[in-house]
Amino acid sequence: MYSDLNGKVAVVTGGSKGIGNAISKRFGQEKMSVVINYHSDKDGAQQAADAVEEAGGHAVIVQADISSEAGAKELLQTAIDNFGGLDVWINNAGMEIKSPTHEATLDDWNKVTAVNQTGVFLGCKVALNYFVTNEKKGNIINMSSVHEQIPWPTFASYAAAKGSVKLFTKTIAMEYAKQNIRVNGIGPGAINTPINAEKFADKKQYDKTVSMVPMNRIGKPEEVAAGAAWLASDESSYVTGITLFIDGGMTLYPAFKDGEG
Ligand code: NAD
Repeated sequence: MYSDLNGKVAVVTGGSKGIGNAISKRFGQEKMSVVINYHSDKDGAQQAADAVEEAGGHAVIVQADISSEAGAKELLQTAIDNFGGLDVWINNAGMEIKSPTHEATLDDWNKVTAVNQTGVFLGCKVALNYFVTNEKKGNIINMSSVHEQIPWPTFASYAAAKGSVKLFTKTIAMEYAKQNIRVNGIGPGAINTPINAEKFADKKQYDKTVSMVPMNRIGKPEEVAAGAAWLASDESSYVTGITLFIDGGMTLYPAFKDGEG
């Protein structure tokens, strides 16, 4: 636990399930006040909010589409109205669509880009605007992926969006460093969340994914949430512009793991 987080206000996008759900709950354990955004799963968001309150934090849930500017602004306004301001903004919402690139539709490309790339821009813009206007120290975390670094055939739109998140994060980290606003990315590897449910239900695919991880197991959402708590806290006070990979070593070229090559 990080004592400086106690009483701080956070917005978490896509908090109804998976990694965003785990981050919201972890922030509750840190006794933070959390605006939990959801897109369609109200029950999941409410369950996270209940867990936050039970742990001693405070929570409010808000339906909003993070790929719209109005949605991002509504999350900020909810934080101000309910908790008096903002300290930490987590751009977690994401989605992927599998398709060979020569068959991919423009509509699918636009959907993936809208959430993973434009949504991150809008969340950052709204949070930065609040921090700068109020001359407040600020903290932003963008959920990227190992696929900001590792190409992913048939998921080109997703990899392109995460690659964009990487350089966008580094650029604004530099742009706002002098204003005491830290901006970092997290690059999860293979984590056990609904985004992977279908894939991991197939034992062959599950085992194949495990074999791509030097630590030989799938990660837990709570392990990503632990990284988010550290980056949000003053324990990481001199860290900005990084991607913190939480991936069991997936980015270490696992094909070489037994000395091949
Ligand atoms: P998930 O599908 O469980 O959760 C994604 C969340 O984003 C959901 O709550 C969904 O409703 C929300 N969302 C989607 N579109 C939205 C929109 N327009 N507005 C608001 N919310 C929206 O997936 P997850 O695994 O928890 O993924 C969380 C983040 O972590 C994503 O950015 C994903 O790309 C990233 N990630 C996940 C993994 C993994 O293995 N699970 C690996 C690398 C990166």
